[in-house]
Formats: sequence, C-alpha cells, structure tokens
Amino acid sequence: MSSGPQPSGDVRVGVIGAGQLARMMGEAARGLGLRVTVLSATMEEPAVATCDDVLIGDPKDQSALDRLAQSVDVVTFDHELVDLDQIEDLEARGVVVRPCASALRYAVDKAHQRRGLLAAGLPVPRFVVVSSSSDPQLVAFLDSLTLPPVVKTARGGYDGRGVLFPAGRDEALAAVDGLAAAGEVLVEERLELQSEVAQLVARAVDGSVALYPLVTTVQHDAMCVEVRYPAETLQAHAQRAEEIGEQIASLIGAVGILAIEFFVTSRGLVVNEVALRPHNSGHWTIEGAQTSQFANHLLAVAGRPLGDASPVAPCAVMVNIVGAERPSSPGAASEVPGVFVHDYGKAWRPGRKLGHVTVLGDDAQATHVTAWKGALAYGTRTREA
Ligand code: ADP
Repeated sequence: MSSGPQPSGDVRVGVIGAGQLARMMGEAARGLGLRVTVLSATMEEPAVATCDDVLIGDPKDQSALDRLAQSVDVVTFDHELVDLDQIEDLEARGVVVRPCASALRYAVDKAHQRRGLLAAGLPVPRFVVVSSSSDPQLVAFLDSLTLPPVVKTARGGYDGRGVLFPAGRDEALAAVDGLAAAGEVLVEERLELQSEVAQLVARAVDGSVALYPLVTTVQHDAMCVEVRYPAETLQAHAQRAEEIGEQIASLIGAVGILAIEFFVTSRGLVVNEVALRPHNSGHWTIEGAQTSQFANHLLAVAGRPLGDASPVAPCAVMVNIVGAERPSSPGAASEVPGVFVHDYGKAWRPGRKLGHVTVLGDDAQATHVTAWKGALAYGTRTREA
C-alpha cells in the first residue's frame, strides 16, 4: 500500500474520474515532476489523451479504487460523484486521499455543507433538510417564505441537474417528493441575486493558501456560461470572499483547490456551493494566472508548495462551449485572434459541455466581446448574457 508522497522525485497522482478536469490536470502536470494516472470508465474519456497512465474501472467499484490506490502515491478527484464510504475505507487502509473524505463530504452532500457552514457562523440561505413533503418542518418553513423555495437534491446534482425552481407551494411539495426518492432534499429560500461570484482557494498540506482573485460567474438555466475576471462587484465583497474562503478552507481541512460559489445579495455574500477540485470558474487561470488552478491542485495534493495565484493580465473572460444543434468547430474559434481554445475531446452532442474559450485583455468589454466571438465561431449553444 502507498506510503504517501515523497518530498522529491516524481509524485504519482491518481485521479478518480477522467473528465475534462482530469484532462486539464494531465496537461498541467507536465513540467511539474508529477505523473498522473486516471481511473476512467472507458478509453473514450477526455483525460485519456493527456494523462500518463489509464486504469479502466468504475469510480464506485471498490476493486477499481484499490487498483488505483496501489499504483499511486496520492489519490484525488475529477468529480464528487463518489461513494464517501468507499473513500473513507481507502483512508482507513492507509491510502493518502486529498482532499480527505471528511472535507469532500462538504461537496458531495449539500445538506452537510449547509449545516456545517451555518454552525460555523457563515452566511448561507435559510434552509431545511427533509425526506418527504409530509415533514412538519417543511410546512412551517414554506409558511415563512415570501417567494417559492429552491428545492435541491442533497447528493448527486451538478450543472443545475437536481435543482428545481417550483412556481408555488404545491409544485414545491411535488418537487420534494420527486427528489426524495434519491435521498435527503434541501429546501431553501429563493434569494434575489444581484450577481454570482466565485472564490478559488488553493490550500497546501501545511495549511498555507494561495487565493485567486474573485470572478463573476454568469449562469443561464442554472448552468455557468461565462466567467469574468475581475469580478464586477464591490471591493468589500472581494475582501469578504477571501476571508470566507480561508475560513472554509481551514474549517473543512481542504487540500487542493477549494471553489466557493457565492450569491451577491442585498444582505451581502451568501455561500451557495463549495467544490473541492478544480472548478469551472477557474478555467481562465490556465492562461490568466501565474499558476493555473490545475497546477496548484496537483502541487497541493502532491505535498508540494503552492504556486503564485496572481493574474497575468488586467482582464480575462472564459466562455463555456455547449453543444448546439450542429456539430461544433473548435478550429474556427482558433482563427479568432486572441482566443485560447480548449477542446475537451468529447463527441459532439447538443447540450453537452464540449470545451471552453478564454481571452485575456486590458479592457473588460473588449475582452468579453472577443471571447463571445470565439465561442460563437466554435458553435456554442449558449448565448451572450
Ligand atoms: P449545481 O450544484 O447543479 O451547480 P446550484 O445549487 O449551484 O446547482 O444552483 C444552480 C444555480 O441556480 C445557481 O448558480 C443560481 O443561479 C440558482 N440558484 C440556486 N440556488 C438558489 C437560491 N437559493 N436562490 C436563487 N437562485 C438560486
């Protein structure tokens, strides 16, 4: 069994999952003295093209996890759709898992996350966690709201899947019962959002942190379409986001990238979500920061010192590419001057996240315009906000 990363030499990092995040980790690992092995469901997954080694297996199959653990020094994640009991079991058997299972639980389970952050005095939406629409707490909670709630599955949701916006009380009750079949349901107040912002924190094994600058995230249909640096918000919010970011990172014992999504509301920043892996809101850092979020995630989990997270340009815009009715054309996007194109190597399918484009610049509006020029040339389904 592995004894953990050595202070020198090639550290072998195993990644559970082989999607686009693992693909970009594979790219970032070059030159860092790290070797990336992915646990991939098939040879068609995005990270197969960039990593050093591939193990084929299901991320929820204990024997596949064991094979991965035995061939690397440290295990990390491309996604949080994992079985926490299995991850705890790996840890109990001495496997180095970063972030650890108790930290990961904040990303895997939205109910645990809301309860934990509330207990720490951090700002979260008002919420209840229920298992059915007949829970007496739910009635009292719905009575206390002015707007219909947002109903979320506690586990297993992503990119807006598992997040429902019922129009009224009956729909809310039906939404709870619909999601309750899969486990606990988080019911929370619907906030009036001025905007949404995200703070990325890289945290090393020794507890030191590198803070990326705050960004604005633009959502359509509960899915992120665009990320803009600098964030279009008050300086006070940027400071508060850093404080909260550091507080959450040490509260949960994060190692690697911690992403915190915030709602900007009339009562200040409210935490929406935490992720313990490189995050869509940080893809711009590949070109836009001294050290990308992917490099810093790998450095952190490998037990190495963090790189500088400061930006290299005054402005950056990243636009996600989502499959439209016609096949996309990354080549056309590359022809737009100034556009960095990232194609995840996935087969085109309408509605599927296929890649992203990033543009750096001196002027926020011009950077945004060029990024959308690139995204539309690529053939994204999403439209400019
Ligand atoms: P996912 O985990 O699938 O990304 P989120 O919980 O982040 O889902 O919700 C997706 C989006 O839905 C958010 O970015 C926000 O735009 C909207 N949303 C979620 N919760 C609320 C809320 N309580 N009030 C208002 N809007 C919300």
